[in-house]
Amino acid sequence: MRLLFIFIDGVGLGDRQADNPFYYNKTPGLSGLLDDKGLLEEYINYVGTRASLLGLDATLGIEGLPQSATGQASIFTGVNAAALLGRHLSGFPDNLLRRLIAGKSLFKQLKARGFRTAFVNAYRPQFFESLRSGLPGCRYSCSTLVTYYGGLPFYSIDDIKAGRALYMDITNEVLRHMEFDVPLITPEEGAQRLIRLSKNYDFCLFEYFLSDLAGHLGDHLEADYVVSILDRFISTLANQINPDEEMLVLTSDHGNLEDLTQRDHTLNKVPALLVGDLNLRRYIHSGLNDLTDLLPASLTILDWERSAGHSVNDMIN
Ligand SMILES: [Zn+2]
Repeated sequence: MRLLFIFIDGVGLGDRQADNPFYYNKTPGLSGLLDDKGLLEEYINYVGTRASLLGLDATLGIEGLPQSATGQASIFTGVNAAALLGRHLSGFPDNLLRRLIAGKSLFKQLKARGFRTAFVNAYRPQFFESLRSGLPGCRYSCSTLVTYYGGLPFYSIDDIKAGRALYMDITNEVLRHMEFDVPLITPEEGAQRLIRLSKNYDFCLFEYFLSDLAGHLGDHLEADYVVSILDRFISTLANQINPDEEMLVLTSDHGNLEDLTQRDHTLNKVPALLVGDLNLRRYIHSGLNDLTDLLPASLTILDWERSAGHSVNDMIN
């Protein structure tokens, strides 16, 4: 089974309140996928014919608001990074988390098992300049470090132009604001490109992070825009998933955007949205409780044989 893993920064599962853009906006794509449900706390553990929605604990048993560096390190190493540090760390991984990622990078683990992997986000030229001096300094995101220590190539703006990569905002609008000569694409086109690229790999990762920025801005217009882009992007991906061959897993590192009454992260659970084979989903549901469970669940998905080795009883019990 192939796995398309979508990481969306700063999206938790909130309730029906006037400042939750996942509640007050219409999300026809997600509603269609989840049988008129949506990315709300009340729908945690909904299992539909096409998709399941689980809620993952992002606090990891550590006091305080969950943060990006420890949350993402937990997702991408399978180790409770917040417990390792004794606190939640925002922004970029420190030296201790770097050592953790260097040893246990998801990509390193997958490559060791013989899986073909890719991180399909593209980077701007300044990143490659700093990379030439061997990843100095500390301002690298978790996914960048996971990719670096996994020994994978990084994609550039040229790869976006050639259809081999995506920018973190999906549509290239951010790049065009920075005067890069790249075409504007729709969320649907971005999703179709990602599906096409993912077919070359066992495990393909894409990261979107305007969601966390919109949450920190606390701006309804920006939040509505992000929710609309995500709704179109996710539903197009989901519509293209062939459940016999691939699974889509979408998750986040901590809540934020789902509560615009404040600009900080939240304590809400984060989604694990699974799209694909119902028996496989049922098989992994009970093991998905917090951020550290995503890596072992990914291995289970990748090892899943389409029909061999799993009787129907095994899968349902
Ligand atoms: Zn944040």
